[in-house]
Amino acid sequence: MSSNLLGAHMPIKNGLGNAVRDGFAMGCNTIQVFTKSPQLWKAKPITEEMIADFQSAVKETGMTEIVCHDSYLINMAAATEELRTKSILGLTEEMNRCAQYGIPYCNSHMGAHVGQGVEEGIRLLIEGTKHVLENSDPSVTLLMETTAATGTSLGGTFELLKAVLDGVHGDKRVCVCVDTCHIFAAGYDIRTKETFEETFAKFEQVIGFERLKSVHCNDSVGSLGSKKDRHAELGGGEIGEESFRLLVNDSRFKSIPIILETPMENNGHERDLAKLKSYVNA
Ligand SMILES: [Zn+2]
Ligand SMILES: [Zn+2]
Repeated sequence: MSSNLLGAHMPIKNGLGNAVRDGFAMGCNTIQVFTKSPQLWKAKPITEEMIADFQSAVKETGMTEIVCHDSYLINMAAATEELRTKSILGLTEEMNRCAQYGIPYCNSHMGAHVGQGVEEGIRLLIEGTKHVLENSDPSVTLLMETTAATGTSLGGTFELLKAVLDGVHGDKRVCVCVDTCHIFAAGYDIRTKETFEETFAKFEQVIGFERLKSVHCNDSVGSLGSKKDRHAELGGGEIGEESFRLLVNDSRFKSIPIILETPMENNGHERDLAKLKSYVNA
């Protein structure tokens, strides 16, 4: 059985509507976007025109599985109350921007404990997530992204994400995004049929596939367990193409957006999308 939803993270310099159209022209039937600059806290307000253009692009292309990626500045487990509050408000705003556009998913790196310890970090993430859920539009689902376990970033193991899920009492609006580069760098092997099966059996056991709403499909510059968050083109990194073949032919991932965040230079996304499609068994 083959995968249905294959796409890429798309630039928004010509607006979100054109990100959808450009993705569709490239051959994507799902995309990921920022709704604002990820390096800034501030966001330009969304106008009626921006919403209308985005929604007509969705209609033109039939693309409904669209994921928003949050700002890189957000850390709900930050050490100071000021930064935590800013992060919680920032993520709430990201969720509400999604709702304005009609984007169903908001992907977040959640946070890093910056020396306060994993336990305290998770406690702060749970507290922050509760605030975000209470103050954001119920139409939007928050996706916690698996991390490469770089530094003190939380989310490097399935168990840590599960702890947040449990902390919000299994609220259906909190789900998960698996980034293949990140989990590999965090120590989960997926290079062969055996290791791929083992890792996703673990995922099923700890989190469950019903919580998986997005996959970031990236090869890894760093080796297994290197904790290095650097994406490589498919087949050009330490994971290798066999893993991506398994991914796109696995029925468990059939209705999940599989999104490339690989290097974009020299039409990298076009090439990687073509590779992904070629991996799908007829
Ligand atoms: Zn990612
Ligand atoms: Zn990454």
